[in-house]
Amino acid sequence: MPHGDEVVPVVNQLAQKFENIVLTQDWHPPGHLSFASSHPGRSPYETITVFYGRQILWPDHCVQATPGAAFHATMRIAHAGLILRKGIHRNIDSYSTFYENDRRTPTGLTGYLRDRGIRRLFLAGLALDFCVRYSAEDAVRDGFAVVIVEDACRGIDVDGSIAASRSSFAELGVACISARDLVAR
Ligand SMILES: [Zn+2]
Repeated sequence: MPHGDEVVPVVNQLAQKFENIVLTQDWHPPGHLSFASSHPGRSPYETITVFYGRQILWPDHCVQATPGAAFHATMRIAHAGLILRKGIHRNIDSYSTFYENDRRTPTGLTGYLRDRGIRRLFLAGLALDFCVRYSAEDAVRDGFAVVIVEDACRGIDVDGSIAASRSSFAELGVACISARDLVAR
């Protein structure tokens, strides 16, 4: 996505401040339901209705075991303890790293974090108004305190989705901070 790579140096630096790190990775099978190319006559960023509600269609992205699904070449977070792959089922998307887009099918991350005694999460990455937003909402619902490091995120903004995300964060008590609040200059 445009400017998406700008978050990499910020995230690399932030990661040095954290002992417990989970990396998440879109990992879609070919022909995934979220791809416009899987729906004849449809274009990216159109919305369709599927069994769990509305689904925005995206350009093909993050196909399993292809270079497009790889972490950015300049990402340096060697001490991350878990890489969670999401969107692995062909017929359901997963913006959130906690639940697929039916908001019910768990990825298992809540259990992983609870078992390890983690109660507060700092989120960074792409995209602010989709994967970060949905992850934040699900994390709050599962009882975690959530902080978003805003300048370590970039949004896409489809039909006002950034404004909608900010309203949701405010309503849920999700704090938004800057990386410099965590990393000394
Ligand atoms: Zn995806």
